[in-house]
Order: sequence, then C-alpha cells, then structure tokens
Amino acid sequence: MAAITMKNIVKRYGDGFPAVNDVSLDVRDGEFMILVGPSGCGKSTLLRMIVGLEDITSGEMVIGDRVVNKVAPRERNLSMVFQNYALYPHLSVYENIAFPLRLAKVADDEVRRRVTETAELLELTEHLDRKPANLSGGQRQRVAMGRAIVRQADAFLFDEPLSNLDAKLRGQMRTEISRLQRRLGVTTVYVTHDQTEAMTLGDRVAVLRKGVLQQVGSPRELYEEPVNLFVAGFIGSPSMNFLPASVDRSGEGVLLETPLGRFELRDARKAAAVGDRSVVLVGIRPEHFEDASLVGEEKQARGSLVRVRVDVTEWLGNEQYAYVPYEAPEDLAARLRDLSRELDGDQLRTQAVVALDAASTIAPGRGAELWIDTTRAHLFDPSTGENLT
Ligand code: ATP
Repeated sequence: MAAITMKNIVKRYGDGFPAVNDVSLDVRDGEFMILVGPSGCGKSTLLRMIVGLEDITSGEMVIGDRVVNKVAPRERNLSMVFQNYALYPHLSVYENIAFPLRLAKVADDEVRRRVTETAELLELTEHLDRKPANLSGGQRQRVAMGRAIVRQADAFLFDEPLSNLDAKLRGQMRTEISRLQRRLGVTTVYVTHDQTEAMTLGDRVAVLRKGVLQQVGSPRELYEEPVNLFVAGFIGSPSMNFLPASVDRSGEGVLLETPLGRFELRDARKAAAVGDRSVVLVGIRPEHFEDASLVGEEKQARGSLVRVRVDVTEWLGNEQYAYVPYEAPEDLAARLRDLSRELDGDQLRTQAVVALDAASTIAPGRGAELWIDTTRAHLFDPSTGENLT
C-alpha cells in the first residue's frame, strides 16, 4: 500500500485551458479518497495521471516514496476499475479475474488460490465458469472489481464504476465497495460526479471545479463548512438555498432583508463576518426550515419566523419538501446574475426548497409560517462566492 501525493499538478491538452490546474492533494496510506465535481471538471484526467494513462504537463506525482511522472503505467503497481468494466468477453469470469496474475506469470496454484479467495469475497464463486455476457450488470461490476483486487496493488483507482447500474443496484454496490475497501484497507481514489456516492463512500472528498481543487475534507466538513458557494451548492440534496440579502445596520444588530423575510443575525461572529458589505448571499439548507407550528417557543426564539406561500409540496413518507417561490428585487438580482452564471448552475434560484417533518400540514396555495434556524445559516460574499462564516 502507498500514499499518493500530488504536487502542483497541471494538465493542458494542446494549448487550451488547463483541464487540471495546480492541484495539490495528499491521499493518505489506506485512505478512501473521492474526487467529485461536475462533468468536465478534470477528475478523470487527474485519475488518469495517477495511473499513468495521461502525461503530466507540470507538477509532481508521488506514489509511496517514488516520483512516478516518468514511470510507465505497468510499473506503478496500481489497479484500475473503469466505468465500462473492460472485461474480456471471450474469457470466463475465472480467467477475467486471473488475467493480471497471468500477465505477471504467477504460478497456476497461486492463481487458483487467489482467484478462489477473491471470488468468495465478492460472492462470485458460483459464476466462475460463465462468460461476462451471461452476467447481470452488478455481477459484471464485481468481476471488474475482482480483477482489480486479485493482485496486491499499492492502490485502487475507480473511474465512475457504478454509473452504468440502476439506482437500486448502485446503492447495493456502494455498500459493497465501502465494505471491501475497509476490509482490504488499500489506498483508494474514486472518481464520481454523484454527490451521494461522494458523501457515503469516502473518508475524505476532494471537490473539483474547472480543473481547480475547491476543498478537501470529510463528508461532514464539506456539508457543514463549505468554503464557497460552489461546494455549498454541489454537496447536499436537495441543495442549499441561496437567498440574496441586503444588509440593514440601522438598528442595533445586523438585519438581513431577504425575499423570504427579514432575519436578525444574532450570532456575533456571523454579524462580524458580514463586514461592511451591503449585500450578501444567505445559504440555508432545506432541513434548517421547519413548520413553525411544530416548533416550541424556546426554539422559535433562537431562529427567525417568516410568512411564506408554498406552491408545491412533495410528500416522501418520512419527510416532505415544500417549494416556496420568491422574487428577488431587481437590483439584487442583477448584482448576482454574473455570479450565478460564473458558478454554472442554478445556484440562485427563484424558489426555496424546504424539508418539513412528515407531520406538517402545510399545504400548497395557502400561507404558511416557517421557522428558520438562522444559527445554521451560511453567508457568502456576493462577488467571490467565498463563505464568510
Ligand atoms: P466527466 O465526468 O464528463 O468524465 P471529468 O470531470 O472527468 O468529466 P475530464 O474528462 O477530466 O473531466 O476532462 C476535463 C477537461 O479536459 C474537459 O474540458 C475535457 O473536454 C478536456 N479533455 C479531456 N480529455 C481530453 C483530450 N484527450 N483532449 C483534449 N481535451 C480533453
């Protein structure tokens, strides 16, 4: 096993925009690291540079104690699982798993021992004689994993291995991969664009955007302390609500005038973080809203109440989502449009998504009172997207 250290890694294809731009990242020995980000953010390119399938334009890639920039893929002792599995259709499951051992000229007895052991681990024993065409998607995925883990590689690299599976199977395989990785304790780098996979699988998650590393942290850190608007909006589903707010300092404390209502920033640290800005973006996760009628007085006093009109509700059994349309004043909206475009998404929506307790009787088309846990609100700089809190 080995740690993987990336130092100021840059990748340019031709003379274009860098696909990977000055990324420095340490994957610790035995760690499960996720690379996540939207399509085109450079995560596959970064993975391919670790494996050696792509040249590094500048920077240093270190695996264990070896700089591998010029080391051939085969000499790096890494195992990779691809999105399309890349199984050999004419070979049995047994021979597919055995393939890397055959390449390494391992003796037959030893091949048999290791393939049998791997098949048991992945519950493939009864399918060893079959051809890939006669397996389900999940079984094929397991064969691909078997081929990766059968030899003692220093690290496993996964490139969106679950994206061809249906939602239910994806959930199952996620748990299996997680269990397997913990059991084997091998350094793993896993690429996905799916934030749920990122949050559930990794010890740590590295979020990339346009080739630039935005933040590295545990799933909880990214969720609770996103460094900027992009990470805040990318991690979490439904995603964080971002409300444009003008800052009112005419009274004692700091008041934020948002399209959903006025909040007082009671937390002195948050109030200080606003600085002398006249506009901020307030980020509130859907679960930090509650139906005010279900919140006791003492708790109510810790947050803010707003009167809104819900236009759609979605009941999910254990909770429900309510959609609250709003209009931002034109001057605020105009100031934020560029930022919204820059963040390539619908970060600044015109509706808030609110997660309510299943017991709430808030209904579409009627007025409702919502309680907001303003102590959990994030404040973002409207020109840079940086989290101020
Ligand atoms: P996806 O999730 O869609 O696979 P990604 O985050 O893995 O995306 P990459 O495949 O690493 O992104 O691509 C990063 C950028 O580099 C993209 O803008 C892509 O168009 C560009 N790119 C990737 N491979 C090449 C190549 N061989 N030649 C030129 N440009 C490339």
